[in-house]
Amino acid sequence: MTKEKKERVLFHTMFWIMFCILAAYFIGGELFLPSEWGGSQYDFTVFDVQWKRVMDDGTLQDFKIPGKSIERKGEVITLETKLPDKINPNSSIMFWNEYNNTKIYIDGELRQEYDLKDSRLIGSSSPAAYVIFELFEQDQGKTLTLVCSNNYAGAYSFKEMYYGDKMGMWMSVIRQNLGAVVVAGLAILLAMLSIVFSLILERHYQDEISMKYLGFGVLLTGIWVLANSSMRQIIFSNISVISDVAFIAPGIIPLPFLMYVNVSQKRKYSVWYRLCGIFIFFDFLISNTLVILNIQTYTSIFPFIALSLVLAVALMLITMILDLILGQIHTYRTAAICMLIICISGLVQVICYMLKLNISYSGSLIAIALLLIMGTALHGTMSDMLRLGREKDEAVYASKSKAQFLANMSHEIRTPINAVLGMNEMILREETQPHILEYAKDIQSAGRSLLSLINDILDFSKIESGKMEILLGEYEVSSLLNDSYNLVALRAKNKNLQIVVKHNENIPRRLLGDEVRIRQIIVNLLTNGIKYTDSGTVSLFVDYEEINEKQLQLKIMVQDTGMGITEEDQKKLFQSFQRVEEKRNRNIEGTGLGLAITKQLLELMNGTITVESEYGKGSVFRIEIPQDIVQYEPMGELSIQGETQSMSAPMVHRMSFKAPKARILIVDDVLMNLKVMSGLLKETKIQIDFAESGMECLKKVCQEHYDIIFLDHMMPAMDGLETLRQMKQMKGNLNWQTPVIMLTANAIMGAREEYLEAGFADYLSKPVESAKLDSMLCHYLPKDQIAHVGLANDKNSFDELDEEAGLAYSGGSIDFYLEMLQMYLDGNMTEALQHYYEEKDWENYRIQMHALKSTSLSIGAIDMAELAEKLENGIKKGEIDTVVEEHGILLRGYQDLMNVIKKRLE
Ligand code: ADP
Repeated sequence: MTKEKKERVLFHTMFWIMFCILAAYFIGGELFLPSEWGGSQYDFTVFDVQWKRVMDDGTLQDFKIPGKSIERKGEVITLETKLPDKINPNSSIMFWNEYNNTKIYIDGELRQEYDLKDSRLIGSSSPAAYVIFELFEQDQGKTLTLVCSNNYAGAYSFKEMYYGDKMGMWMSVIRQNLGAVVVAGLAILLAMLSIVFSLILERHYQDEISMKYLGFGVLLTGIWVLANSSMRQIIFSNISVISDVAFIAPGIIPLPFLMYVNVSQKRKYSVWYRLCGIFIFFDFLISNTLVILNIQTYTSIFPFIALSLVLAVALMLITMILDLILGQIHTYRTAAICMLIICISGLVQVICYMLKLNISYSGSLIAIALLLIMGTALHGTMSDMLRLGREKDEAVYASKSKAQFLANMSHEIRTPINAVLGMNEMILREETQPHILEYAKDIQSAGRSLLSLINDILDFSKIESGKMEILLGEYEVSSLLNDSYNLVALRAKNKNLQIVVKHNENIPRRLLGDEVRIRQIIVNLLTNGIKYTDSGTVSLFVDYEEINEKQLQLKIMVQDTGMGITEEDQKKLFQSFQRVEEKRNRNIEGTGLGLAITKQLLELMNGTITVESEYGKGSVFRIEIPQDIVQYEPMGELSIQGETQSMSAPMVHRMSFKAPKARILIVDDVLMNLKVMSGLLKETKIQIDFAESGMECLKKVCQEHYDIIFLDHMMPAMDGLETLRQMKQMKGNLNWQTPVIMLTANAIMGAREEYLEAGFADYLSKPVESAKLDSMLCHYLPKDQIAHVGLANDKNSFDELDEEAGLAYSGGSIDFYLEMLQMYLDGNMTEALQHYYEEKDWENYRIQMHALKSTSLSIGAIDMAELAEKLENGIKKGEIDTVVEEHGILLRGYQDLMNVIKKRLE
């Protein structure tokens, strides 16, 4: 045992021994030692004398007090007795006057009257209360007469009378009731606290907390105990009201308890509880109305009020016994214990009443029960809350770590898959044996679906863990549609499917939203359309609806003529990992995640998705996404129309010339366009400068001379026309003579004249086609700078990035492709290569080449990959000369490629 533990045990033992001694002394002394309270000055005794009843005819009959007399309603009863021969000074007589209007005479002289029947709101008899009247020395031996009347159906009940010191008698009443009153007061306090506590919890958990009902039940019962206490005239000022409360409250009390048990039982027996509740409500209304209208008194109608109580107790007991038999009571153990306590205490009270045990103690029993159930309920609710909180924390933690694990795993898996795919690509290129090529194709297709699955899982886990962010940016609707189309065109072509793109030409040209995610959604739907359609068309319709001046609802519809989805399956479509018609679709790659991701992405963007489908005929998916409008100008026509020609198709056009000395400036506010242009021009080795705004362009034209300037039309702040106008007027402009070519997506007829008039040399419509760009450059560049090249020999473009191929290796995920580029950049090998080259460490040089080959291939740097492979093979074959020859070219190409990637990532 540790030192601390020993010390703790020692202190605990000492404390409990001392506490038990004190408790034993206190309890034993109070229970078994004689009462020392009061002393002689507070003495009082039972006023035990012979009473006579004065009958109507004047005769006298013996009458016993305590006792009862059954009379006709409204009949007055007169009782007489002789006062003692010796009366001590300061003596009084006190008795519990039960619902009588009482007049007290001494020798025919009215000494005191207790009559509240005219001052009370409800009923016409005085409430039960202690009546006390003083006696004086001269009253000795005189006749004491009580004249009692009441409005009840003939029941006079006389309790024991006391004679003696007034103070002593009051103190005795207080002593008998104080316990119950204090405990009831405590229960009321706890009930109020638990109601407030429950309301706070309800707000926090957005759920119903059953303890609230128990709180109301205990609060009412506590009030009832106080109202029923025989010292109520000391606590409350208006005895009539409080005595009525003692009758009204029992009619309401069952309701909150019923609700408490009903909620605890998860509303299993709701119908019965509802019926019982309605009965209680009408019972309450009827009984109180009858009393208020003076048709009945509370005492006479009390059995009817108590019926509610009996019914409620019966219903709760029956359902609890039923659950006990069904073995389901453990789900609301606390509630069951509470109700059992209440029922038992009620039962004991009834037994006490029937056995005529001192009833004034009965209140304390109920009060103790209330305190007990409040304590039990609070303890139960607190531990439930703590457990729920713990479980919630654990669940959140588990789901977070699951999502994190998925994210990590898919990230980690992608790298080796890329290597596998890269190596496989080599096999596909080099192998000649047909059966091996078959295997390699299988590896390729399986690898690609694995990659796309992993990308899906990554997206899914991002959404699950709340890490998926919607990144807002400005974008061109035309480029969104172009890109989406391009990403699926090849797939459709391979399946001989036609893709139709139709759009409302009035859609505002530039919008604000998450272009990457919207494209992902459209590509998802188009890919599904292609995957699940064997013949016919997959159509993309794009329309919009104005929400207000600044916002529109982008409406996108993807329709196919495929296999369709049954109505039943349509309901399951958007659940994660839910594929439908598994048997029929088993040969179609898929995870069942695409639509779930689509739906969740849409939710993140406040969008919606709906599906309509006829089984066997085709499906229509409709999505709507609210987007902000950036530029109202209509987007106009698109160059794609149902042809499998794509924006990337011109990208494979090889430029017909090189012009490494030429210098051009491209001005466009959309970075993407700058990248496309630089990509298209890479082979020409032209030196390219960029400016992202009109202002920047104006600065640059004063610093450099360019051979051509490409100037975008639509730019924020200063558009192309304005930029050119200012440029022409500027003093320090070094480019007076330079041809300025307008870049525009607005390729409408007649625009050319307008641009030429404004001073442009020419215009080029976007998306830029490389063939057109090629001829325009040949036309406007100084002839001495152009060196035409034979395409076949043009193999030195090591810095070239075939983004389409790279994207294919990344499973079509642009995010991942960019990540791959970043990784490529981060793993810069220049130093290592130079080091091994200088050290002539050819084995390590070969390993580097091997790595360079596969990483370059996976980002689409095909020429670089081929060169690395050439060098790798060279070393393997011992042809070190080749390596020495090509090392410089490789390093320069590698450097260029890194710059291209850097620019691409910017
Ligand atoms: P998967 O990766 O399986 O394609 P999705 O979540 O994209 O996952 O789609 C879930 C299921 O819905 C698919 O397995 C397919 O059965 C069905 N489905 C989706 N789109 C279409 C469609 N255009 N035509 C017919 N069935 C479809």
